[in-house]
Amino acid sequence: MARVVCKPSVRFKGFTRGLIRILGALQIVAERIPMQEIVITSANDGQHSQRPRSRHYTNEALDIRSRSFVTHESRQRFLRRLRRELGPRFWLDYENHGKPSAHFHVQVRKGHRYTGGLCGGRRESRT
Ligand SMILES: [Zn+2]
Repeated sequence: MARVVCKPSVRFKGFTRGLIRILGALQIVAERIPMQEIVITSANDGQHSQRPRSRHYTNEALDIRSRSFVTHESRQRFLRRLRRELGPRFWLDYENHGKPSAHFHVQVRKGHRYTGGLCGGRRESRT
């Protein structure tokens, strides 16, 4: 079971339904992964594309460290699980694959404004 942590430079400047839904899905997926930590490396901070304006700046996107996952298979499995948890209104990508800056990017799908529920729900109550 991995803990979800943030790199010290991560800044949240605000929250949207989409961002909270992403955080919830990430927590749910992390709980099923036999790793120490899943690290959020960027929220509304750092350098992201201006054209089109990145969803990081509208509090609708997160970056996640990919090198914590040691094998190609574990990275693919993580992406699959997170995609399944989030559903079609979100978009995930493995950016800069093969470079030192490689990371997972998760955002509300292009052209959408997420107004749905705040949690995915399959595993809400754990006592
Ligand atoms: Zn990003």
